Amino acid sequence: MRRKLAAGNWKMNGTKANLAELDAMKSTAETDQTDVLICTPATLLSRAADAVSGSPIAVGGQDCHANASGAHTGDISAAMIKDAGGSHVITGHSERRVDHGETDAVVAAKSEAAYANDLVAVICIGESLEERESGKTLDVVGTQLAGSTPDAATGANTVIAYEPVWAIGTGKVPTLEQIGEVHDFIRETLVERFGDAGNDFRVLYGGSVKPSNASEIFAVSNVDGALVGGASLKANDFNGIIAAL
Ligand code: PEP
Repeated sequence: MRRKLAAGNWKMNGTKANLAELDAMKSTAETDQTDVLICTPATLLSRAADAVSGSPIAVGGQDCHANASGAHTGDISAAMIKDAGGSHVITGHSERRVDHGETDAVVAAKSEAAYANDLVAVICIGESLEERESGKTLDVVGTQLAGSTPDAATGANTVIAYEPVWAIGTGKVPTLEQIGEVHDFIRETLVERFGDAGNDFRVLYGGSVKPSNASEIFAVSNVDGALVGGASLKANDFNGIIAAL
């Protein structure tokens, strides 16, 4: 039985004043049967880890370098995320793929760096609007899943997040049928590659999830939770999403 996961991605938002939001998520996380994760900006990670200490909320990074250390100005390593108190790291978010030209091979290398440091990799995949409109969604998602997921991936060290690029931060959400089609495809692909162990991976949906649409999305087959951007910044919204799982 896969536990549901509500994962927040604060992106480039938040200063220490925003840590109060984490406090306001604690009681919902404590009473719910759902795993809760907030991926903060790197500058907040250590403070966030202290802020959630003793509660079931986990914290993580939004990216890591594939290398362990070295001359990579501005980057952070998986070991640094671990050292700051993180347990997870997002890899291959579409904003990284677009803004920083990250390929599937780079995403796989970053995910391996996560495993080497005992972090769970939240590997993001998803099609652009143009790819969706030209009928290439499953091809694109299949290629990204194959190329971004290391052979060492398991349901314990990896979460897959399906995030249609056109739904991120836009308020546009695929139909429930479209979400179900892709999630079923991801599950089948994981089982083809990893055997029965493919059933252990949690597959999150991401893209304009809000308290008002969370319940219907979470009822779709093979949706094991959500990766949430904008609606994870405020406890009021994120608590509604946790409660819907
Ligand atoms: C995201 O950044 O991963 C995301 C899904 O953003 P939003 O929820 O704001 O669409």
